[in-house]
Amino acid sequence: MTRKVELSEQEWRARLSPEQYAVLREQATERAFTGAYTDTEDPGVYRCAGCGAELFRSEAKFHSGSGWPSFVEPAALDAVETRLDRSHGIVREEVVCAACGGHLGHVFDDGPGPAGKRFCINSCALELEPEDDGRASR
Ligand code: FE
Repeated sequence: MTRKVELSEQEWRARLSPEQYAVLREQATERAFTGAYTDTEDPGVYRCAGCGAELFRSEAKFHSGSGWPSFVEPAALDAVETRLDRSHGIVREEVVCAACGGHLGHVFDDGPGPAGKRFCINSCALELEPEDDGRASR
């Protein structure tokens, strides 16, 4: 699989915090209810903390009660990829950033939207770019 962003392990370690590295590059999961964006309602775009790609929009975010930021859909169909994850003795659908391959979280079929999806994403894999309020100084 060719990625737009390909870095060495050393370069990823230099770019990411230890927690971000563990999640994005080693498929770790941050503890529930500890992430920065679990209950955030601020409007804006959630970008990949690894490569800056636009992944999710605040319009698609909802309160799932799971302890992780949850979205009904990605910002674009090709923004993320999914693959089967059989770790920890359970079968889940892993969600990765299409641009850098970074692990983001998992997607489940119990979401509230028309597609019924719940993208359960680690806060530290995301960076919220707040929406421009239109009052930028000139
Ligand atoms: Fe990425």
